[in-house]
Amino acid sequence: MAKSKKPTRSKWAEVRGSDVHGRGMFATKAIPEGAEIIEYHGERIDKEESNRRGNALFDEAQETGGAQVYLFTLDETWDLDGNVEWNTARLINHSCDPNCEAQIDDDLRIWIVALREIAEGDELTFNYGFDTDDYESHPCRCGSERCVGYIVGEDYWPDLEKKLKKKRAKATKKREAKAKKGKRGDGKKRKKKG
Ligand SMILES: [Zn+2]
Repeated sequence: MAKSKKPTRSKWAEVRGSDVHGRGMFATKAIPEGAEIIEYHGERIDKEESNRRGNALFDEAQETGGAQVYLFTLDETWDLDGNVEWNTARLINHSCDPNCEAQIDDDLRIWIVALREIAEGDELTFNYGFDTDDYESHPCRCGSERCVGYIVGEDYWPDLEKKLKKKRAKATKKREAKAKKGKRGDGKKRKKKG
């Protein structure tokens, strides 16, 4: 992780321990809808570098069952890697029912913007917008009523639903096959008692 710069600060929010995941950012006062709460800083990288880092993270997720992903698409040429220590906004947790969203302005800077009025003390959240390629590595514990169980962008929810359906069908088939086998017996001779 790159070091050196001072952590980004916000006049609206600060870092605290979170029930959702590790640390999070919380409103230190009421935040009006549309407020730019904090800039999401990072390293601007080209697509080639971004793919390299993304693939490395994918491998890590396969091995360890989890990897932090902070890569953002800025435009056709540039991405942003938010995995730098001074990027305080990287600590904002994902939610399936978020109160913020990440917006890119004309200068390709990313801002965490309030989607609605946020009360003092509320945790800030936004949807990380991941696709479903690696969804099993990113379970969601946001606890909202809309939670789909995985950290996946809303655009991909229908796709996720399809994948989960397939997975459930597979599991049911497996269970049924096992039950059938059980009825037939295990093929071993049983010793008589006594
Ligand atoms: Zn969720």
